[in-house]
Amino acid sequence: MPSHDVLIIGAGLAGQRAALAAAEAGATVAIMSKVHPVRSHSNAAAGGINAALNPEDSWESHAYDTVKGSDYLGDQDAIEIMCREAPDEILWLEHRGVTFHRNETGHLGTRAFGGASQARTYYVADITGQALLHVLYEQLMKHHAAIDRYEEWFVTSLLQDAGGHCVGAVARNIRDGAMETFTAKGTILASGGAGQAFKPTTNALICTGDGIAQAYRAGAPLMDMEMIQYHPTTLLENGFLITEGARGEGAQLFNKDGERFMEKYAPNKMELASRDVVSRAEQTEIDEGRGVGPDGQGILLDVTLVPKKRILEALREIVNIGRDFAGVDITREPITIRPGQHYIMGGVKTDVEGRTPIPGLYAAGEVACVSVHGGNRLGANSLLDTLIFGRRAGAHAAARADGMPMPAEPPASRVRDEEGWIASLLQRGPGSGRRVSEIKDELGEAMNRHCAVFRDEQGLSTCLDVVRRLQEEARSAYVDDRGTIFNQDVLGAIELGYMLDCAEATLLSALERRESRGAQFRTDYPERNDDEWLRHITVSLGASGRPELGYAPVTITSWQPEERKY
Ligand SMILES: Cc1cc2nc3c(=O)[nH]c(=O)nc-3n(C[C@H](O)[C@H](O)[C@H](O)COP(=O)(O)OP(=O)(O)OC[C@H]3O[C@@H](n4cnc5c(N)ncnc54)[C@H](O)[C@@H]3O)c2cc1C
Repeated sequence: MPSHDVLIIGAGLAGQRAALAAAEAGATVAIMSKVHPVRSHSNAAAGGINAALNPEDSWESHAYDTVKGSDYLGDQDAIEIMCREAPDEILWLEHRGVTFHRNETGHLGTRAFGGASQARTYYVADITGQALLHVLYEQLMKHHAAIDRYEEWFVTSLLQDAGGHCVGAVARNIRDGAMETFTAKGTILASGGAGQAFKPTTNALICTGDGIAQAYRAGAPLMDMEMIQYHPTTLLENGFLITEGARGEGAQLFNKDGERFMEKYAPNKMELASRDVVSRAEQTEIDEGRGVGPDGQGILLDVTLVPKKRILEALREIVNIGRDFAGVDITREPITIRPGQHYIMGGVKTDVEGRTPIPGLYAAGEVACVSVHGGNRLGANSLLDTLIFGRRAGAHAAARADGMPMPAEPPASRVRDEEGWIASLLQRGPGSGRRVSEIKDELGEAMNRHCAVFRDEQGLSTCLDVVRRLQEEARSAYVDDRGTIFNQDVLGAIELGYMLDCAEATLLSALERRESRGAQFRTDYPERNDDEWLRHITVSLGASGRPELGYAPVTITSWQPEERKY
């Protein structure tokens, strides 16, 4: 039974940055991932990472844009930390080998991004996440003496002692199906988002909300779960992302009448208003009959306005995506897009050191809610969030572990219980219920129908009924693969339970917030209402085993809420 000072669950950017910070502080570290670390969803990040590094820019301006982007729901103390620490983090990455784009003068070059008053997005063509993740992975290997890597291990639950402290996790070795306990003085959840609860989504198949549900089941509150980001430019056919970098480089949006409709919705920032604003504008055009495509469900994104040389230099991945997944050469013709699920602003509630209210349990990255994104995340602020708060959580967990005794090993029955539960799942056959994948599809379609850009009480309640029925059906759902070696099917069944927990928390919070703010637009409550709702909504598992709603104050430091215009 392995034991470490710090156990990190997830090896995307947040997890790898946490591992390096903990190892540099002298801790022994285990980092675990259900896929090879460089296949984490961070690898898909395209457009870039924000920092006020330019001499004309300031961290205060970056912080103000982030606060405004969040529709004043972001906690300003956390936003200040993130924006103040951003420039040094970019330099740290560059010094470790990230080949950030340089401009004609040889300085680090920026591109414009949505909701930002300055061009402050640093990038590596449109493969920024991949560039960052591979450089961090090299650093992990360099620290191999202090960091044990458990690649292709799947965490099924967190371990808690009699006092409720988190003392590690139970995991399944995907290669052979063996279960093992990992004890640790501190455990950091860095297991990413939950986009797969929606269909379609830009998120990878592995983004199934595992850590969010595991923390919730251990008693940690979730926060801002109603805030689901729909990205303005995802492919009509399959939800693949066309990076905001395209609009940052000058691409424009048009409706079926050839009208550049953003003039009506955001006359100053146009296509580069915040994502919630642009997605709502597009959906309004579609709903009012001005969409393009077979059912009028699309909008045209014209990338041909960007000089071809620049497209091939800075947007080469989306040239491939357009060609391979939509049959469109974006250097020659517009491509049809629509708003699609992309990111969850909510997650496990933490403080600025990554601590959850459960002693010994931390969270960082998309799994967590600090909350720096509030009601709407600005593009290129998520990679930054993963690195800043991943580093802080790793450093804090290492300092806390110093001098602390290793927790006692959990009773052997803990693994046996988990093995028994998985064995019972494997025994089910077609006679027992529905196939896991069918339930997952129904969940994703219901969420995308009722919990998207526009919402109302009736739709949200209908969707909650669907989710509760699916939770019942999941108890008897069956898988086809009964084997032990790389049984992805059984992992899919476990992930389904996590996604259903996340969906339930999202719907309960969206029903509770009877106003419109950021990504939550309630057609039955179309105004923002600061008197009642300038507060976070939390969801915790109550003693009865049912979810319970609560509230948390929004921290305001320098920026009082104002009307939001772009
Ligand atoms: C297509 C796309 C493009 C994006 N582009 C940008 C961008 O340009 N700029 C920006 O700022 N943001 C962007 N984002 C958002 C950003 O990439 C993510 O929010 C961020 O990378 C999440 O990082 P993470 O470390 O929290 O999680 P992830 O990178 O998702 O990693 C999660 C890790 O947890 C592991 N894991 C999960 N569950 C388990 C389990 N049960 N057991 C063991 N391991 C587990 C996974 O294996 C993985 O290693 C983009 C997102 C997408 C989907």
